[in-house]
Amino acid sequence: MLVGEVLYEDEQVLVSHAPPGMVGGYLGYFFVDAKRHARGLADLADDEACALARIVTRLAKALERDGAEHVYAFTFNHVPHHHVQVVARHPGTPRDFWGPRVDEWEDAPRGDDAKIAILCDRLRATF
Ligand SMILES: [Zn+2]
Repeated sequence: MLVGEVLYEDEQVLVSHAPPGMVGGYLGYFFVDAKRHARGLADLADDEACALARIVTRLAKALERDGAEHVYAFTFNHVPHHHVQVVARHPGTPRDFWGPRVDEWEDAPRGDDAKIAILCDRLRATF
């Protein structure tokens, strides 16, 4: 699903940033989607799995170059659809917020569409 600013797209994969209304404007919260409709992880073809893994890794490298102290990747879908959430953990994140609650830290960098676009431009430059 297309949820926000598109960071990257090729024949098999689409990477978009979460829109500001979705995770409280948390910066560095991405979705890596298989473009073909897949009902979940087990439905990916080998070439799609490889394409997704390559892009998840490239995104993690770009986020670390941009200052993330760690990058999470997880799949929690409850609907017949496949994407991977790739989320930067920002420096100084208290341990209580490490993991799936990382976007709940009040002092995390957040922004509107304009700030998300600036982040995506920086990441694209090294992607
Ligand atoms: Zn999706």
